[in-house]
Amino acid sequence: GPPVSIVSAIGNAARSGVLMKGGEHLERAGKIDLVAFDKTGTLTKGESTVADVEGFGVVDDEVLSLAATAEKKSEHHLADAIVDTARERPTAATDGGATVAQADNTDASLQSISDPDDFDVVAGKGVIAHTDGHEVVVGNRALLDDRDIDVPSRIADYVREREERGETVVHVIRDGDIIGAIALRDELREAAPGVVAALQDAGIETVMLTGDNERTAAAVAEEVGIDDYRAELLPEDKQSTIEELQTDGHVVAMVGDGINDAPSLATADVGIAMGAAGTDTAIETADMALMADDLERIPYAVKLSKATRWNVL
Ligand code: ADP
Ligand code: MG
Repeated sequence: GPPVSIVSAIGNAARSGVLMKGGEHLERAGKIDLVAFDKTGTLTKGESTVADVEGFGVVDDEVLSLAATAEKKSEHHLADAIVDTARERPTAATDGGATVAQADNTDASLQSISDPDDFDVVAGKGVIAHTDGHEVVVGNRALLDDRDIDVPSRIADYVREREERGETVVHVIRDGDIIGAIALRDELREAAPGVVAALQDAGIETVMLTGDNERTAAAVAEEVGIDDYRAELLPEDKQSTIEELQTDGHVVAMVGDGINDAPSLATADVGIAMGAAGTDTAIETADMALMADDLERIPYAVKLSKATRWNVL
């Protein structure tokens, strides 16, 4: 049939939960043949929880509390999960010399986490902090490599095993020694596999982009059924990946939620932001926003982009 008019497209879209902002690049929208998805917060809920804490030569609790202090000033979703879990541990109270665990879950029993003396973010890798005269590093393999820290095989085995389940593992290092690891899980959004399948049925390629490590990315990609994935991307790498896909001849829609995603949302032929979970920067940069983070609207948004004669704008 004939292309629907811009005005009715925008109206229909809004009634269907997609906010369209228009924009001069959208004339390519009709030719979208690939949708790139950010992983964390887009295909997944972006609400990590601590699945396991493992001390190597120290008790698990010490690993968790040291990591929480180092992460206290970080706004990363992994940091939030670590700090929340450390706060919710049973309070260790002393009673006549014996340590007694109080398991009541009232707010008053929440542990206080000490502030670090200083704290630095290493983008896409982790954090470095000082507390109590110790340097504490919490981060991924790349951060350990940068600092020439060797990973004993027992720890590498633990990390591999958790990553193969789709979990993200951060190492905890005190004064240059690995004292433990924390495995975190971030559930898929329920709609994600169905949305990917619907796009594939419509002949559209799907790719997942993530800063997370290769093994975790592979496990999540398989769970969601996506065609391809690119892992261990720094924020600027996500944008250059979109450019490469375009150079290869693809017309690309990008779906993302984070500040990290703003450059790639801007570079994509059509940028689609998660409207509720999305950061302001992502929403401002995108061409469309999903009003209720409803991924199920994506195939519709792509179909609508294709049916709309954008060049009249
Ligand atoms: P994503 O949003 O996909 O998790 P990021 O670029 O934010 O991507 O992070 C990539 C990786 O860097 C994480 O999977 C983690 O290994 C590490 N990382 C980032 N921030 C932190 C942090 N605050 N603490 C520990 N590790 C971190
Ligand atoms: Mg994200």
